[in-house]
Amino acid sequence: MPPASRRFVYDLPLRHRFRGITRRQGMIWSTPTGWVEWSPFLDYGPAEAATWLRAARDIEARGWPALVRSSVPVNVTVPAVSPDVAAGIVAGSGCGTAKVKVAERGQALGDDIARVEAVRSALGPGGRVRVDANGAWSVEEALRAIRELGRFGLEYVEQPCASVEELADLRRQLARSGRSVLIAADESIRRSGDPERVVALEAADVAVLKVQPLGGIWRCLELAERLGLPVVVSSAIESSVGLALGVALAAALPDLPFACGLNTAALLAADVTSQPLVAVDGNVPVRPVVPDAAALDGARADAKTEAMWQARLEL
Ligand SMILES: [Mg+2]
Repeated sequence: MPPASRRFVYDLPLRHRFRGITRRQGMIWSTPTGWVEWSPFLDYGPAEAATWLRAARDIEARGWPALVRSSVPVNVTVPAVSPDVAAGIVAGSGCGTAKVKVAERGQALGDDIARVEAVRSALGPGGRVRVDANGAWSVEEALRAIRELGRFGLEYVEQPCASVEELADLRRQLARSGRSVLIAADESIRRSGDPERVVALEAADVAVLKVQPLGGIWRCLELAERLGLPVVVSSAIESSVGLALGVALAAALPDLPFACGLNTAALLAADVTSQPLVAVDGNVPVRPVVPDAAALDGARADAKTEAMWQARLEL
C-alpha cells in the first residue's frame, strides 16, 4: 500500500441519481503493474470494505490475468429515469443491449412499464433488454412484473427478489406457468456470503460478478469456474480506473455469452482520466487506464472527504 500522499481520493458527480446516490467517491493509486481503485459504497461497513480492498491488493500481489479478447460487449445502463430520458440515454449510447433499473423505491410498476417500453422502442426489435430490480420484489410482485414487462421481450431479469429461496421459488413458478425468462443473480452472489447456494438451489440461470465486491479478479475467475453458470461482469460504478479491472475480468473469461454491465463510466459526469473507458459501438476496449493531471484536478475530493477516506482505509 503506498503512503497516504500517493493515494488519490476522487469525488465525481453522477449524471442521474443511481442507487440513491448522486456522487461517487473512492481512492485510486498507482502500482508497479498499473492503477488500482478502492471504492466501497459509503453505507458499507468495514468487513465489506475489506473485501473490496482485496481487489486492489490482488493486482499488486498477482498481477493481471491473461486476456482472451481485446474488447468487451457492454450494455447501456438506464437508471430509474423518465421514459423520455431513458430513450435518450439508449439512443446516445451506441449499445444494442440495455439494462433498465426497475422497482425503484417510490415508483410504481407503471413507471417500470413506461420506461421499459421506451427503451424497447429506442433499441428496436433487434435490441436486447434486461431489467434489474435489486431484490425489491416479492415472488408475487416479480411474477406480475415479469408478466407485464415480458411483452417487451426480456433477455433476463436480474435479482428480482432478495433471497436465494425466493429466486428459486420464482424460477419454479415461471417454469410451471410456461414463461421462459432467465433469472440472473447479483446481490445473491456478492452479498450473501455463500454464492454457491445459488447453484445448489437452482436459483438462477446467469451469475453477475463484480470485481471489487467479490474481492478481486482472481477470486472472480475461480468463482466463475466453480459456479459453472454463464457470467455477466458488471461494475460497481467505479471511475475508469476501477472499471478497467472489470473489463480485464470480462476479457479473461473463457466464455462471455452476454453483454457486460461495464459501460458505467457513461453514468459519471466526470472521471479521473480525460479518456474514460466508455463503449464505442457497444464495445469497451481492453486497455490500461492512466489518470491525467487535468482530469484529476477536477476529480479531487475536498479535504474533509479525503481525510474520511484515509481514515476508512485504516479500519
Ligand atoms: Mg444488479
